[in-house]
Amino acid sequence: MAGKRLILMGPPGGGKGTQAKRLQDRYGIVQLSTGDMLRAAVKAGTAVGKEAKAVMDDGKLVSDDLIVAMIADRIAEADCANGFILDGFPRTVPQAQALDKLLKDKGIRLDSVIEVAVPDARLIERITGRFTCAKCGEGYHDKFKQLKKAGVCDVCGSTEFIRRADDNAETVGARLKAYHDQTAPLMPYYKAQGLLKVVDGDRDMNLVTGDLERILGT
Ligand code: AMP
Repeated sequence: MAGKRLILMGPPGGGKGTQAKRLQDRYGIVQLSTGDMLRAAVKAGTAVGKEAKAVMDDGKLVSDDLIVAMIADRIAEADCANGFILDGFPRTVPQAQALDKLLKDKGIRLDSVIEVAVPDARLIERITGRFTCAKCGEGYHDKFKQLKKAGVCDVCGSTEFIRRADDNAETVGARLKAYHDQTAPLMPYYKAQGLLKVVDGDRDMNLVTGDLERILGT
């Protein structure tokens, strides 16, 4: 059985967050999304949130030091003891090196790094149409996953929805550039460690989940 400390890699809008949520429910391991943590900090108006907001609005990457400190605190919490799914972290080689050191100091190691691969051409339409339920977090899409009843969440019945401030066509270009320039070098980094597996993310999301579950085992 494959272990349960993993990284989900992949471009913005490629479905990492959706898949991480499913794996969290399936295996009882926590999803650690640095993007979600930063958005919560922005909303709460904390010092971290204030520092991150402008960078996120530009589609650029927040500083490695800030992110590494945030994830180090989070991984130390009790709910991470059984495993975790890193979603959106690491995003740069220095972040990956810091993670290696952090885990080594704790005497634990990563079990898998999985890339959910989606071609650029598909990402813009996937990102610009997406929205989530403000109450339960269920994800939807204007074209690919519509609400069954207009204006009402299928899962919890809420009528409030959120669209991310950075999910617009202009910012998506900068986010894709950051991904190719700064995050893509992580694939050879983890390949060299024998950890990298690649899943085709440009398919029905249930098929993608099936592949991930096959990699992770029971
Ligand atoms: P995400 O929700 O993963 O798409 O992240 C949204 C935004 O948060 C990114 O465009 C970055 O500005 C910032 N961010 C999230 N995770 C990281 C990270 N690991 N390193 C640097 N910036 C990050």
